[in-house]
Amino acid sequence: MRFMSENGKLKRFWIQELTRPAFEDWLENEPAPVVIIGIGAIEQHGLHLPLGTDSLGVRAFIHEVAKRTNSVCIHPCWPGYSPHHMGFKGTITFSEETLLGVLLDTIGSLAAHGVKRIVLINHHGGNSNIMALAAQIARREFRVMVATPRGPSNTELAKKIQHRMRKYFEVHSGPRETAYALHYFPELVEMWRLKDWKNTFKVDPKLMEFMDPDRDDYELVSQVFMACLEPDTDDFTSSGQYATSDPRTADPEEAKQRMEESIQFLVDFINLWKTIPVPPAYRD
Ligand SMILES: [Zn+2]
Repeated sequence: MRFMSENGKLKRFWIQELTRPAFEDWLENEPAPVVIIGIGAIEQHGLHLPLGTDSLGVRAFIHEVAKRTNSVCIHPCWPGYSPHHMGFKGTITFSEETLLGVLLDTIGSLAAHGVKRIVLINHHGGNSNIMALAAQIARREFRVMVATPRGPSNTELAKKIQHRMRKYFEVHSGPRETAYALHYFPELVEMWRLKDWKNTFKVDPKLMEFMDPDRDDYELVSQVFMACLEPDTDDFTSSGQYATSDPRTADPEEAKQRMEESIQFLVDFINLWKTIPVPPAYRD
């Protein structure tokens, strides 16, 4: 490879793989440079999924978006915010201050080099609030645009998955996440460990009845369900899986289609965003 970036066109996308001149070429010649920051987790993922599931997934995802949008991508840390999984071995959690610090230091460094458009992508629910706070602080402190786009939520497939997530509380290590692991890194999944799988999700039976998205009062009862959910994963599941459904039903083809939808949404977001000039408050 002669140039990693020529006239602003990248041939490599991970920031750690670029030479300094290549990064500079991209920054100077790409009309609206975007950096994508991805975060995930190192945490227990039931019996069959790797500890790095969320980080491995976000890396594959942001790299593909970067390739299709001529963006630079960075995965600044493997762990995220996972105190609720510490009851299971293998989990590495950052404190909330550490994760916030990693995000702000990363954005601050990029801002110092003149990057004005930053996208934050998160593949671990526990990180959501901290990521949103980092975006809010960084915009004001560093005078850069920070976006946290996610979608699409209204496609047939998105609605089908959402319904299952509500009905079977398919949040962690269930069929949805297993499908995505089988799609992205099948060599790291040990499906055979699920030979004697049974549902280990345990909450008050009265609350279980609230997990029905077809109820008319779902908006109300689902919030009561969440109000009663215990704080740590090991409070309500002995296997570490939360989802009442069998992960052996995972369909990697579904994950492939869903990831493609999400990648395309991000690509459309970035391409449209690039057509809008940097607003005055964010200019140097
Ligand atoms: Zn996960």
